[in-house]
Amino acid sequence: MLEPLRRIVQEVNTAPDFGTVLDIIVERVKAAMNTGMCSIYLLDPMSKCYVLSATRGLLPESVGKVVMTADEGLVGLVASRAEPVNLEHAETHPRFAYFPETGEERFSSFLGAPIIHQREVLGVLVVQQQQRRRFDESEEAFLITVSAQLAGVIAHAEATGELVRITAPEAESEPAAIYPGIASAPGIGIGRAVVVSSPADLYAVPKRRTGDIPGELEQFRQALEETQKDVRDTKNDLRGILSTEELEMFDVYLRMLEDHSLGGEVVALINQGFTAQSAWSQVIIEHIRTFSRMESEYLRERASDVRDLGRRVLEYLQQTSRPAERVYPEDTILIGEDLAAPHLAEVPFEKIRGIVSVRGSHNSHMAIIGRAMGIPTVMGAIDLPWSELEGQQVIVDGHIGQILVDPSWEVEHAFQEVFRKEQMLAADLLDTRDEPSVTSCGEKVSLWVNTGLRVDAKLSLEMGAAGVGLYRTEIPFFLQERFPSEEEQRQIYRDQLLIYAPRPVTMRTLDIGGDKALPYFPISEENPFLGWRGIRITLDHPEIFLAQIRAMMRASEGIDNLRILLPMISSTLEVDSALALIARVYTELTVEEGYRIEMPRVGVMIEVPAAVYQTRELAQRVDFLSVGTNDLTQYLLAVDRNNPRVAALYHAYHPALLKALRHIAAEARAMQREVSVCGELAGDPLGAVLLVGLGYRTLSMSASNLLRVKAVLRQLSIAEMVEIADRVSEFADPTSVKLELQRALQRPELERLLHVHERPRSTA
Ligand code: PEP
Ligand code: MG
Repeated sequence: MLEPLRRIVQEVNTAPDFGTVLDIIVERVKAAMNTGMCSIYLLDPMSKCYVLSATRGLLPESVGKVVMTADEGLVGLVASRAEPVNLEHAETHPRFAYFPETGEERFSSFLGAPIIHQREVLGVLVVQQQQRRRFDESEEAFLITVSAQLAGVIAHAEATGELVRITAPEAESEPAAIYPGIASAPGIGIGRAVVVSSPADLYAVPKRRTGDIPGELEQFRQALEETQKDVRDTKNDLRGILSTEELEMFDVYLRMLEDHSLGGEVVALINQGFTAQSAWSQVIIEHIRTFSRMESEYLRERASDVRDLGRRVLEYLQQTSRPAERVYPEDTILIGEDLAAPHLAEVPFEKIRGIVSVRGSHNSHMAIIGRAMGIPTVMGAIDLPWSELEGQQVIVDGHIGQILVDPSWEVEHAFQEVFRKEQMLAADLLDTRDEPSVTSCGEKVSLWVNTGLRVDAKLSLEMGAAGVGLYRTEIPFFLQERFPSEEEQRQIYRDQLLIYAPRPVTMRTLDIGGDKALPYFPISEENPFLGWRGIRITLDHPEIFLAQIRAMMRASEGIDNLRILLPMISSTLEVDSALALIARVYTELTVEEGYRIEMPRVGVMIEVPAAVYQTRELAQRVDFLSVGTNDLTQYLLAVDRNNPRVAALYHAYHPALLKALRHIAAEARAMQREVSVCGELAGDPLGAVLLVGLGYRTLSMSASNLLRVKAVLRQLSIAEMVEIADRVSEFADPTSVKLELQRALQRPELERLLHVHERPRSTA
């Protein structure tokens, strides 16, 4: 059964549309299981009925006509029980129902498996047989495996609207195509899509048009020439190593590139106005698809040759088209499969209206940067047909996490109105900029900012930040092509320290690894979040750590507003080693090299559960503690902060997290150490109330959240916040905690600050 399963998966993955997927499945399952019939019933969410959507073995005309509720027939039984039903005498079962329109020949045996995605039954996959027999265990397992595969495809088709087209072809055109994602930086962004693709990824090339057909043809000719030369060179190098037959493979490659083959098809598409890259990827993908569907294993294998050839030519095409020449619209919505800081850095800041990434989640670094820069961001838009969106009008709703493509005038107008109201609130909040950051009972709460890019500084200072609680030094490292030298780092750090002086600036040592890979220092691990990251890397590479500490300290000469923060600490030994290196640098600089620098205060991040339970021991060794709730949540709840599939389990208000936060604050107080929170929870107005209630008096957040948090805290007294924190801590699950928090803060004076404006119904 493994081979048919592998074939089905491969064919499904390369199928051009959802209808073909269903046909492939019924066809292949019927053949593999040697049954008289295989059918798929899909749930119509409107009528809550299961509709026959594809079949082999029943009359094709019955597709779309046979409909059952969960209370009807054996299909309904599978759906309502959400488990397989395997019957030898189906017709004697009380739930058996006969549908004459199917032309059903009174099948005897029945095996049905539910198609379940994220706990929801989306449909039923059925096989039936005329002869009486019980399907065996391995057949049942096979059907369950296929339906699990189908579930993901159906969920995707549902989200992209393809499913709607199949079950309701007469449906009127929507006012916008809506794609869900994860709300990652608040705000509404309206503009034109600019698609960023990863290098040499055929599936990531946007369908883009050109005004320069001769130029594109020339680029394509050159890329072909270069590739042909490479193929010939490789063939020559392998002469004597490979047999003559094996070497013939290279001639096949060369023939594929000729005018009457792939080359000719690409030229035709370029002549229709597509760019060379876009034409090439379209042609190659189609050929990969065709080869993958071939019966013969030999021919199926050719799909990977075509793919390989496709990548080689694409690499040359990408080298010749210079991204620097790209013109960005004034209202750019940046869209990509896996957007990262370098993509953002290429676009002039004032032109970016929104960010959309197919991968990643609320706490991915792209999201954090989006928040820092105040750009509406949606991550984890896994169903977005992103490579086809170039130039389309797009609305990014960063509040609830959705993307609207090609909205009608009414929808766009309604969102423009929300955008306008938000701008008004932002303008009003600016009035609180110079108000003291105190609670209604007069207690000070210091509001600091998290930074990393130079552009954040303007916004941070405009918002009245009291200091920098977290400067992520890895961000400038991402923007380089190699490790920056000590002197290059010194200049970058000095710039930051000067901008904020005399306010303190907390510079965290390089925190790479996990989801933060430097392009020039790739780390490949099975389990990167539990692997080599943060302080573990820099202690293993003291040359990197020492250069960074030297650069930071030299940068602080004459300003002395530097604080050093150590990330990912999970043991006191790491702190001791890091402190020894820091002390060594300080002595070298001040005693041996004559710098006049004050010893910076040094702190550790509490972001790993081990550190929570060693808060005292850690506090003994350093000057301050900073709680990283992003990682702490991920490690405490065992939920990857970047994985959209488990994003719903990433609860910033989880009672276990509240307990940990309360414990850290109490321990820090007992040790008389300053403690702050620099995770994203601090920038969420509800989270900020909770943190103050739990005992924190310094919060560090994205600049775009600062005034909203300040305005909320100014309305509440410490006693009120303590009472709220105590009350919500009684609840056993995160949803109740959040609901109670929202309920406790339901006051007219907070309404505008805590609740986003009523958004237009996107399908209105
Ligand atoms: C955190 O983990 O909460 C944190 C602030 O660090 P980062 O998001 O950079 O991992
Ligand atoms: Mg962290």
